[in-house]
Amino acid sequence: MTFHPLLRRQLKRQGLEDDAASSSLLPAWVALLGRVSRAYEEHDQERRLLEHSQELASQETEELYATLRQERDQLEERVIDRTAALRTSESRLQSLLSLSADWVWEQDANMRFTFLSEGVEKVAGIPVAHMIGRRREADEGFQAGGEEWSAYSSAVHERRPFRDFSYRFNNPAGELRYIRISGVPVMGDDGSFKGYRGIGQDITASTLAEQRIQELAHFDALTGLPNRSRFISDLEAALWRASQRQETLAIFFIDLDRFKTINDTLGHAAGDELLCAMASRIRGALRHEDLVARLGGDEFVVVVNGITDDNDLHQIAGKLLGSLSSPVCIQGAQFEISGSIGVARYPEDARDAPSLLKQADTAMYQAKGHGRNTVQFYTAEIAERAAREFEMESALRLAMVRDELFLHFQPKVSASDQRLTGLEALLRWRHPIRGMVSPAEFIPVAEERGLIIGIGRWVLGASLRQLAVWRSQGMPVPSVAVNLSARQFADPMLLPFIEQQLRDNGLQPQDLEVELTESVLMSEPERAAQLLRQLSSLGVHVTIDDFGTGYSSLSYLKRFPASCVKIDRSFINGLATDADDRAITQAVIAMAHSLGLRVVAEGVETREQLDALRQLSCDEVQGYLTGRPAAPQDLHARLALAYPGHTVPAEAAPALQAAA
Ligand code: C2E
Ligand code: MG
Ligand code: MG
Repeated sequence: MTFHPLLRRQLKRQGLEDDAASSSLLPAWVALLGRVSRAYEEHDQERRLLEHSQELASQETEELYATLRQERDQLEERVIDRTAALRTSESRLQSLLSLSADWVWEQDANMRFTFLSEGVEKVAGIPVAHMIGRRREADEGFQAGGEEWSAYSSAVHERRPFRDFSYRFNNPAGELRYIRISGVPVMGDDGSFKGYRGIGQDITASTLAEQRIQELAHFDALTGLPNRSRFISDLEAALWRASQRQETLAIFFIDLDRFKTINDTLGHAAGDELLCAMASRIRGALRHEDLVARLGGDEFVVVVNGITDDNDLHQIAGKLLGSLSSPVCIQGAQFEISGSIGVARYPEDARDAPSLLKQADTAMYQAKGHGRNTVQFYTAEIAERAAREFEMESALRLAMVRDELFLHFQPKVSASDQRLTGLEALLRWRHPIRGMVSPAEFIPVAEERGLIIGIGRWVLGASLRQLAVWRSQGMPVPSVAVNLSARQFADPMLLPFIEQQLRDNGLQPQDLEVELTESVLMSEPERAAQLLRQLSSLGVHVTIDDFGTGYSSLSYLKRFPASCVKIDRSFINGLATDADDRAITQAVIAMAHSLGLRVVAEGVETREQLDALRQLSCDEVQGYLTGRPAAPQDLHARLALAYPGHTVPAEAAPALQAAA
């Protein structure tokens, strides 16, 4: 056997045989050495085993370390990434916050500010340092109240989110800012309340703009008086107070007369100046506590409290009219303006604002109808009349579309030989139920309600068409006369319309005559003169109708380029019996002739009247005696007499017989 190398080296060092096979060794010695050698080997074995297992263990530890290191590296990377992301998002938020007019705020559980972004300082002028550690509402600059404040308080009390709570804040610089905030409660993981966090906004500019809009919405920009919407709420408040105190109240509805004329002729700047002047006169004529408002256009309203006696109300109205009518200087020229006033009383006439206002308005319309510069109190009779007019207005609008309007023509003849000198077109309305309605009844309504412009144009067109038809049938009717209303002066297209109609019907201006009543001329003298000058320079003849009823003198009327005067029926009526009527008629004829005007007498019904007019050298007559107003087909017989040479169209023959 061979011993363990270590034993062999030890034996060799002792100078002994290191080989068990050596014969020099005793067998027992060899056996011992053999056992020692095996012990060595076993030890070696164990050591190798231990070493192997140590090797395995360290290998495992190494692997574990590697994984841990890797995980740590990954974690570190993630932390770096996250931190970078957080920084980006923070700086993004910062830059957005610095850009926006808003700011972010945070409060602790005691509602003390722990954080405010710099916007609050930049935009609202509230230093961040000033606010930190304070409660919002504890600051002396804080002002809030009303419903909004209680909604906010209860939201905070109940730890609920709140939105758009606005309050006022006097910043340390002493400026008043309007601020709006929204916030949400912040809760810890354990559900405990940690405070509030939210955004804030300075809304000063938009609030002030809104206030200005409100102001504009409630006050008339021109005169500074309350406007219609403000007036209605003021009136409602005044009515409520009056009902509480059992007091009376009166509304005066004021409309300026002829305002439109000034506005149209002198321009809007002059109109505005006039309105301002009138507004301050109205204001000046009243007590401080009386309400004054401008409803729009040239309409003003006044509310006076606590005056029970109608005489006193009359006196106030008189004072108002007086203040309006003293001459006013506009753009260097003097004007005399007047107003019409309607009055309605609480509680006598109505108890609510809209009704009172409407009644005062209705009464004002009636005042206007009674000639201007007058006062009218609201009465049940006025209400009835207004309702009738309204009904008539609706019916008249229908009449226009249903062709219920048509024309009659009445001859004008020369007084000496009854030669036909012209035909006057007179409007007729056949209402499907009411039958014939007199123009004296419906024309004022058409004028009042603005329908006359359309109706007037229709009359002009239809009259000229009819004249062209007669001419084409060989009847040389000299001209047609058309009555014009004052309201038609307001139609800027009247003149071009007339020219167009003349052209379309192949007629000359002198084929048309316009009749304007004396009172129409007197109501709008400037406008009438202007229009009449234009018409007569075109070649259209002008007649002053109903002369003698309007208290003007012929010499005054000479300012209008008229060529003819029509003496009113009322004078002709008494001509044969009443010495005064005869004297007046004589004077008018003489005066008219001296001014170079022709004279027509209207409403001539008897032979005596005609004879008297002849004696007085009246030029022409018109009346039932020489021809009633009639439809064109019914006039054929009359026209046949006037123009014996012409042939009557076949379709006109039955009408001719009916008329005969
Ligand atoms: P006006 O222009 O003075 O017309 C004369 C009125 O006297 C007409 O009344 C006519 O029918 C009536 N009449 C004529 N001869 C006699 C007579 O011998 N005796 C009596 N008692 N009356 C006579 P009508 O047709 O009822 O018209 C009334 C007024 O209505 C007209 O008065 C005129 O101012 C207005 N009118 C009629 N048609 C129009 C129109 O187309 N436009 C305008 N703006 N007004 C019109
Ligand atoms: Mg007439
Ligand atoms: Mg007349």
